[in-house]
Amino acid sequence: MNKAELSYTFAKEHVIRASALLSLLMPQASGIGIGVKGLDGRYLLVSKALETLFGKSLEQMTQLTDNDLFPPALAARLYCSDQQICAGAAASSDELDLSINGQRLHCLWLKFPVMGADGEILSIGTIMLDINRQEEAEDMRQALERLQQSNQELQRTLVELDRLASTDKLTCAWNRRRLEETVLNEMERLRRYDHPLSLLIIDIDLFKLINDDHGHVAGDQVLAELATVVQATLRITDSLTRWGGDEFVVLSPNTTLSSMAMLAERLHKTIARTLFPAVKHLTVSIGVAECICGENWEQWFKRADAALYRAKACGRNQVQIAPETPQRVGIGENVSANFVQLAWHPAYECGLALIDTQHQRLFRDANDLLAAILSGRPANEVAALIDALIRDVVQHFKDEEALITAAGYPDAAQHAAIHRRLVDSASVLIARFHSGTLPIGELFQYLANDLVARHMLGADREFFPYLDSRRQSATPTPLQPVA
Ligand code: GH3
Ligand code: MG
Repeated sequence: MNKAELSYTFAKEHVIRASALLSLLMPQASGIGIGVKGLDGRYLLVSKALETLFGKSLEQMTQLTDNDLFPPALAARLYCSDQQICAGAAASSDELDLSINGQRLHCLWLKFPVMGADGEILSIGTIMLDINRQEEAEDMRQALERLQQSNQELQRTLVELDRLASTDKLTCAWNRRRLEETVLNEMERLRRYDHPLSLLIIDIDLFKLINDDHGHVAGDQVLAELATVVQATLRITDSLTRWGGDEFVVLSPNTTLSSMAMLAERLHKTIARTLFPAVKHLTVSIGVAECICGENWEQWFKRADAALYRAKACGRNQVQIAPETPQRVGIGENVSANFVQLAWHPAYECGLALIDTQHQRLFRDANDLLAAILSGRPANEVAALIDALIRDVVQHFKDEEALITAAGYPDAAQHAAIHRRLVDSASVLIARFHSGTLPIGELFQYLANDLVARHMLGADREFFPYLDSRRQSATPTPLQPVA
């Protein structure tokens, strides 16, 4: 379904709901005009009262905008209130003097957003009432308040229903429906911008034996734990889907075949090292393929599945890569996305597992964020990557402060003050990013210079000697990779 059809479906659903709610809330309020407009300003639906008022049929009305129905000054005022709704207002209202087909009206004109399950505005609901009749106007205001509350509850229910309908109950991974919806958008980005796009399929080796030896409940537990282990290894922009049975799919936007092959190897190793309480250890086979521009979803998936089949046929417990690689023509955005990267070097390690792992994770977070911004990923993904970076920075600072204090580092308090300043600067940058006033160069300056070069590779090195006596490796726990 394309955006216009989706918008129409939602508008239709919501105008029916809005009408039904209104008639429930104020049954005496006949003659109230209710309409739903698309974001392009065209009416999608109108109630009988609006058809009568304008002397036009529903079919005629649905071709029109306010510019066609009102004089320019009034149309401009209605346009302004539409803009308020598009900018995120929960409702807007205006009082207008109208002269329609010789009829003079003093109207209260109310607007509210009609939103989809993801909270995105799909269309604008409008309610029109002749407020020469004062009592009805007051009733109308109260009804609108109740309607807004119902609308918000409806949105929350829709979001929850959408989450449930797109999630596998056992593993909390996406289900097939969600993946198939997402993958089409991602393939469109590949077609338009030449962004690389890869997937891998994971299938547990001899899972039937796990069920036979340990029981179905233990098998279920393994599936849920495997999903947790895989999720923990993925980036925020990657998604994990339970394709069915013991088969999972990872979809990675902005990822070439070679990067996906590395992710597959990392997942393969991590899973092999993980202790699953119900069965101790298991192995998986993985097939990897990058999408080639021009092929459809089924063809691409089939190539990854063929690679998985080869992995099974060659003895299981391994990664196999589909041999086909896309030929990139021209400079896609992915080139700029991969151009600005912070490169990790083993010389940056202090030898203490916790600090080194966290430093590397911050490099990865920063690179993911830069790549997402430079390649124009959707705002919600960029916001999620910013949240991840800040969460990891704050956690890292907290752990580091505890360690250097315990190690007797004399400048620990001063170091903690530097951490606070870095977090404060990050908060300012985030606010500017959200208001659209942060140039990418400044973000890079903060990540590369302030956070990495001057702090992680500068100030942090001063306490390294104090950690000498504490250098050790992490103790394995269940569901953690074990050495
Ligand atoms: P292979 O290495 O060739 O993949 O061998 P396999 O035994 O893993 O074979 P296959 O992948 O075909 O088997 C999947 C099994 O997963 C079959 C089915 O009994 C089991 N299964 C499917 N869904 C579930 C589930 O939700 N829970 C449990 N416990 N088992 C499931
Ligand atoms: Mg299997």
